[in-house]
Amino acid sequence: MNEQDDVILRNGMVEEQLIPRGIGDGKVLAAMRKAPRHLFTSGKSLENSYADYPLPVGEGQTISQPYMVALMTQCLELKGGEKVLEIGTGSGYQAAILAEIAKEVYSVERYDTLAQKAQVILDGLGYKNIKIRTGDGTEGWNEFAPYDGIIVTAGAPSVPEPLIEQLAEHGRLIIPVGGPFGQELLLIRKNQGEFTQEIICGCTFVPLVGKYGWQE
Ligand code: SAH
Repeated sequence: MNEQDDVILRNGMVEEQLIPRGIGDGKVLAAMRKAPRHLFTSGKSLENSYADYPLPVGEGQTISQPYMVALMTQCLELKGGEKVLEIGTGSGYQAAILAEIAKEVYSVERYDTLAQKAQVILDGLGYKNIKIRTGDGTEGWNEFAPYDGIIVTAGAPSVPEPLIEQLAEHGRLIIPVGGPFGQELLLIRKNQGEFTQEIICGCTFVPLVGKYGWQE
């Protein structure tokens, strides 16, 4: 393995896992080619880090499959100037992808251990536009609301009301909603105060645990 191997693996990930499945947004593809996923995978091998599946990141949580990260990001239709809220920092990888495209990223994580670990990695990579806090993300992050995009990377029993309230006009919310072992990925848009909802696909995420999510 040499320094260039991760670049080759990332480009392979984009060409084999993302483009053939319909990820066509140039900004998303560029971010996926750039962010060093292997630094967020808790010491997994390079090959594993760029493979077509989710991986454990500690505390029983997972970093999503690359395709799911790309798909959810693409659903937000980011152009570059947005303020985005992520619920479920986990490894910090999704936050890095968002930070490559959006102007400001706010991310909330339930486990302080994960939040701190993600912060160290993101600081080391020089991301200056990501703010992380430990807490219950089902309540959103009111201080910096409203958000042009909100992405929830854990499965909810229903859409948490505070997240709807913290969505900006023309904003988009992407969230897995359903049972504990399988959900539907929902894309909710807010236009002129009205909400529309689209089902993107079936998916399986770890549970969103909190006041407006699953109870502990
Ligand atoms: N986006 C992450 C993957 C997240 S896995 C990445 O790129 O690696 C889902 C994460 O949601 C887990 O870390 C879990 O601890 C967190 N989580 C679950 N319920 C939460 C809540 N109410 N608020 C904040 N984070 C929560």
